[in-house]
Amino acid sequence: MKILKTIPLAALLAACALTASQAEEHRQLGAHVHGHGKLNIAIEKNVVSIELEAPGADIAGFEHEANTKEDKAKLEKAKATLAKGLELFTPASAAGCKQTSAKVALEAGHEHEGEGKEEHDKHAAEAKDHDHDKGEDHHSEFHAEYAFECVAPEKITSLSFGYFKQFPNAEELDVTVITPKGQSSYEVTKDKPKLEL
Ligand SMILES: [Zn+2]
Repeated sequence: MKILKTIPLAALLAACALTASQAEEHRQLGAHVHGHGKLNIAIEKNVVSIELEAPGADIAGFEHEANTKEDKAKLEKAKATLAKGLELFTPASAAGCKQTSAKVALEAGHEHEGEGKEEHDKHAAEAKDHDHDKGEDHHSEFHAEYAFECVAPEKITSLSFGYFKQFPNAEELDVTVITPKGQSSYEVTKDKPKLEL
């Protein structure tokens, strides 16, 4: 099975440089770290339930409000891609899993908790005039929930993470897997987009 597609080196380096500076910025602000998401996987009988939390920057490439046509289109595309859970988190094919539901939501948060509405509106107005808002103030997160039904759940020995190919800004996921046997934690990265159970 082919998991990784070759990515041009220049593109990869550019992506890394960008993500590193964004991560730095977010550490200073005490916000979530771009490139890092969380994934919970629960396997019970023949049902696999998956929950994803990821920064907007990882999924859509930005976190500011989508005011332009272009940004709105990017957001819609990202949501559509995110809804294809089975292509993002693919159980071993022998398990015969099918997606039975998918829910995708975008939650916009605000970085400056002390900031009042007035100031927020002022910022928003400024952002329209200048290219002032580059995502420093606004933060957003995607939440997605999936359910898969599997013919042979005991054959879920691994999951392939197409997620990192679909969302190149994503770098790693902290994964928690819950089965009737117990709970385990893993880290799945862009470099090794596979989870062995
Ligand atoms: Zn953010």
